[in-house]
Amino acid sequence: MQLTNDEILALDRQHVWHPYSSFLNPSPTYAVASASGVTLTLADGRTLIDGMSSWWSVLHGYNHPRLNAALRNQSEAMSHVMFGGLTHEPAVSLCQQLVRLSPPGLNKVFLSDSGSVSVEVAMKMALQFWHSQGRPEKHRFVALTNGYHGDTFGAMSVCDPVTGMHHLFSRNLQQQYFATRPSSRFDAPFDESDLASIRELLATHSDIAAVILEPIVQGAGGMWMYSPEYLKAVRELCDQHQVLLIADEIATGFGRTGKLFACEHAGISPDILCLGKTLTGGYMTLAATLCNDQVSDGICRGEAGVFMHGPTFMGNPLACAVAGESIRLLLEGNWQERIGTIEAQLRRELEPCRELDRVVDVRVLGGIGVVELDQAPDMQTLQPAFVEAGIWVRPFGRLVYIMPPYVASESEISALTGGIYSVVSAL
Ligand SMILES: *Cc1c(COP(=O)(O)O)cnc(C)c1O
Repeated sequence: MQLTNDEILALDRQHVWHPYSSFLNPSPTYAVASASGVTLTLADGRTLIDGMSSWWSVLHGYNHPRLNAALRNQSEAMSHVMFGGLTHEPAVSLCQQLVRLSPPGLNKVFLSDSGSVSVEVAMKMALQFWHSQGRPEKHRFVALTNGYHGDTFGAMSVCDPVTGMHHLFSRNLQQQYFATRPSSRFDAPFDESDLASIRELLATHSDIAAVILEPIVQGAGGMWMYSPEYLKAVRELCDQHQVLLIADEIATGFGRTGKLFACEHAGISPDILCLGKTLTGGYMTLAATLCNDQVSDGICRGEAGVFMHGPTFMGNPLACAVAGESIRLLLEGNWQERIGTIEAQLRRELEPCRELDRVVDVRVLGGIGVVELDQAPDMQTLQPAFVEAGIWVRPFGRLVYIMPPYVASESEISALTGGIYSVVSAL
């Protein structure tokens, strides 16, 4: 290593943007030297147990020998080749896996570089589809409050307008419709009145191309887990009103909620599905947008005759090879049992947080545990407190949450839940 820990951090503060960061009021930042299994090793020598899976993405732990080998082998064949007019086994095999595993009907796959881009692609698919049906007026989207779909302009337009600070960008941002998010919890009885808001939007507006939502678990916009009955009803409403359904499973895909895809909780298929984050097991950036044959046929019979999108790094062979191996690893293992075990442990060990003064809610689904506080804590003190406790937990607003890698052991998960309890109780 050329730079000391202090040099890395000094240069970082001087030049480097981080997600949602400020140079004037930088939040505590730590240099990582390496990562293996569920452990991050900091450049200052400390080790942390990772509770974040690097934002949902690391399923099998860091530095996994099988994923390393997939990457190494593919790099020796070819790291990249353009996807216009050329194809290759890693991409074709991955798309076949995705079609096989995803909810029925999704049959065509568009590969792209990041979750946000896969959402842009989904939105463009819906627009081109309705254009081809002679319904170009269907150009708006219905999204849910507290939703999160990414940071590019199209994706941003369907994020929660308040937490997404839409007013800063209003001159450039497409105006969409927002339905109130369902209040019925995942495992509570379904309250029919949850449907009033979306029902009214769909009944009163004829310019809607699609509903876009995160099925079952709203991620970055509020870590909220809602009733499958809502999702089932939205699917029916979309059919009734001739509106497409886009399911954004960028966070929930590949087992995190206890089903391979969250749509399975409701037994529905969307018309368009977005995958990202977990797709390569956290190794590389790669995303996919799947659609059914009705959507793809419509697009291809339309005025353009083609789908109007084509990223330079589309179908990157390194990313596709790792994604394929990550999916094989997942399916070979007992992932559903693992998630069940993690879920039971998170419930057992996070539940005591409910008694703490600052805690207003505790919720768990699959491999996701959330402790909601009464107000946003001061990250300047909270982040170092978690690091002192030897765990990597990064709260967001009022939400302290973890989604450990599936390979996390019982004692590693206990370190996470115990650390959360002691840090939150000291607030
Ligand atoms: C993270 C996320 C995105 C955006 O993905 P990026 O890879 O960060 O662009 C979109 N939708 C959901 C549900 C996400 O969790």
